[in-house]
Amino acid sequence: MKVLKFGGTSVANEENITHVKNIVAQVDDHKVIVVVSALGGITDLLLETAGQAAEQNGDYKNNLKVIEERHLQTIKALIPIDQQSKTLSKVKSELNSLETLLEGAFSIGEITPKLSDKIVSYGELLSSYIISEFFITADLDAVHKDARELIKTNDIHGKAVVNFDLTNTKCRDFVSNSSNKIIVLGGFIASATNGDSTTLGRGGSDYTAAIITGAINADILEIWTDVSGMYTANPKIVKQARAIDHISYEEAMELSHFGAKVLYPPTIQPVLSMGIPIRIKNTFKPSDPGTLITKNQLKEGKTVRGISHVEHIALLSLEGSGMVGIPGISKRFFEVLSLNQISVILITQASSEHSICVGISSDDIDRAVLVVNEAFEYEISLEKIKPVIAEKDLAIIALVGDKMKSHQGLSGKMFSTLGKNNVNIRAIAQGASERNISAVIDKEDVKKALNSLHEEFFEENIKQLNLFVMGVGNVGSKLLTQIQQQQKYLKENLKLNIRVIGISNSRTMVFSENGIALDSWEKALAAGEKADKTAFFNKVKELNYRNSIFVDNTASDIVSDTYATYLGQSISVVTCNKIACSSEYNNYRKLKNLAKEYNAPFLFETNVGAGLPIIDTLKHLIASGDKVLKIQAVLSGSLNFVFNNFNAKNTFKDIVKQAQEEGYTEPDPKIDLSGVDVMRKILILARESGYQLEIEDIENKSFLPQQALDTKNNEDFFSSLEKNEAIFQELYKEAQASESKLKYVAQFEDGKASVGLQNIPKKHDFYNLEGSDNIVLFYTERYPDQPMIIKGAGAGAEVTASGIFADIIRIGNF
Ligand code: ADP
Ligand code: ASP
Ligand code: MG
Repeated sequence: MKVLKFGGTSVANEENITHVKNIVAQVDDHKVIVVVSALGGITDLLLETAGQAAEQNGDYKNNLKVIEERHLQTIKALIPIDQQSKTLSKVKSELNSLETLLEGAFSIGEITPKLSDKIVSYGELLSSYIISEFFITADLDAVHKDARELIKTNDIHGKAVVNFDLTNTKCRDFVSNSSNKIIVLGGFIASATNGDSTTLGRGGSDYTAAIITGAINADILEIWTDVSGMYTANPKIVKQARAIDHISYEEAMELSHFGAKVLYPPTIQPVLSMGIPIRIKNTFKPSDPGTLITKNQLKEGKTVRGISHVEHIALLSLEGSGMVGIPGISKRFFEVLSLNQISVILITQASSEHSICVGISSDDIDRAVLVVNEAFEYEISLEKIKPVIAEKDLAIIALVGDKMKSHQGLSGKMFSTLGKNNVNIRAIAQGASERNISAVIDKEDVKKALNSLHEEFFEENIKQLNLFVMGVGNVGSKLLTQIQQQQKYLKENLKLNIRVIGISNSRTMVFSENGIALDSWEKALAAGEKADKTAFFNKVKELNYRNSIFVDNTASDIVSDTYATYLGQSISVVTCNKIACSSEYNNYRKLKNLAKEYNAPFLFETNVGAGLPIIDTLKHLIASGDKVLKIQAVLSGSLNFVFNNFNAKNTFKDIVKQAQEEGYTEPDPKIDLSGVDVMRKILILARESGYQLEIEDIENKSFLPQQALDTKNNEDFFSSLEKNEAIFQELYKEAQASESKLKYVAQFEDGKASVGLQNIPKKHDFYNLEGSDNIVLFYTERYPDQPMIIKGAGAGAEVTASGIFADIIRIGNF
């Protein structure tokens, strides 16, 4: 004997019900009990309609029409026209009774739990009847049975308690006396001893099926639903979740208790005691193996088996000095909740006994506050206990696994993962069975928390990085191309899945929640909404993705002013924009501190030497205990390019222009030529070496005539270079005369920094510096005489983009 239960989606319409029939027809057993839910959505609709009628809102009639139509239409689509009349007339007569009940509620303007149960029971009553008639007309040996005649309960309406003795006998008798192969009945509905309709709680059709399975000692209970089993997390929220092959009753119970709605929590009980296996299957993919639930799970397999969550949670806390050492407070607290049918989902108690805190459904919170305050009225009046505190808009997430108890470090990993992603934890509970660790968090953080935990515990360390890129000029567009080219490699080799979720330039911005296609981002961006820095940040925050990284490829101070807001939300920042790190020391420090406090890396390798690993090397030197004594460097790829190409045969202005056109200078070339850019770089190196320096502390022996320094725009700047050509030619000649080359050198020693043009003689390390190369000599306590040298291309969009990319990857490995 087998019991098959089909949920609301599985029987939502004629097409789905046809799948159901095909599945049932193929069952190779002498007896099959088919338990069905109401047509998908009907239970909700019935409750809504009843609510409207009770509020004397005439709209209930429209809803009733929809309910009628859904059922009549299903009959017409499934049953051959010449055989419809019996089914249609029976269903119409039931719908008339339903209408009468609703009219009653409307006229008195009230609905009792008893009437509500009666009304809502029509969902399963009608669905099971229609499906059984469809089976019969499709030549299956089927019969319909009203489940209310088999499942007997007490009279607590809404969530009745089953009388197993009576129910088991009725189920056994009926099944053994029935000659039909297939018995179809509605789930969820039952009746009290006096015959009144009762229900088993939302999602209760699973329970009905389990009760019958236990009663008749069936061989297996199959729960057919719209997903291929019990997943490692809700597949609608975590895309990477996968079906668990095999799981124990206890684990399944724990997962369903904490929100894995695929199985109604009480379902396990009746089958657990008999040791009957449950299989969860997908009606729409019947060949998928699904999940098998038995006494013991497979020996191998993960320690953490699944992550579940319950939304609509509120915390209720009872606090007060008067609670300490007084027995019975907890008892009274739980008693009053239980008497009012408020079920407790999670409990935490501080060891000080100063407070008890429970997680309950948000629906119950207002009532809970009332009844608890009433129960402790006396203690509250004496100020021994404070009025109960309620916090709403929360959710519970739970890690579940039988073997978790024998593993250390799981909760540490759980909470550090959540912490890294800025998920605030409001309460924690670990079941004494140690089969679960649960945390209460803000409901806005659920998606991020589930995905980060899933990544941490299930995805073989594939880490998803979510990028928000501002600035797609020379550097930014190269970065996007490089990411596109490397996406596959990074996934396979570094287990990093990089997605670009948002892009903005100064005109427009665009977001795509699953990642922007990198072969067509220009088009998407052009069609985007109007760019706005604050709106961009708000969107990043609202999306609330794990491992979010803000990438600044601009040279704008307005953009660098926003870093603190990102870091404060635990969003990492990667930038090639030097403004923030060379601004006031306090601001630089603040950003570094925020990065530490919120666990969000702030990386700016490309601020010095483009893609060369200068800052990273420096960091490693310092971290390993070395101390910087002196830095000598040529840090301007632009100036190096200019002085390497400038000679008696061309003009200074033309070479600067060329450097600008080839992307070797800042958008404003004066920033390079005046030495400001080099000052910023040496300042950053000095700061990263541990010195507290301001830009004003740096000596700048500028070679530009004052007139050029005073210009206000690029055009004036270039024309001033043209006018002063003689000065530049003179510098060139002087260098030639001493067999030297002109290099713009930055120096830091004894806490002092300077920048300026120098004649570099032949033997010097800097003499042979080609093109736009940079070179840095680090003299440290460990490298006092022979410095550590880093040399290579120090400017250009391609290398800068690769430096930014390297920072992004560093965050991936963080
Ligand atoms: P039915 O109507 O068939 O009873 P439910 O909607 O009650 O179906 O339960 C199936 C749904 O449970 C899935 O569509 C999925 O959204 C949700 N769900 C939540 N957590 C899990 C999980 N861990 N594994 C599978 N499904 C889950
Ligand atoms: N129809 C009921 C509900 O929606 C029972 C069920 O589907 O399990 O809650
Ligand atoms: Mg269900």
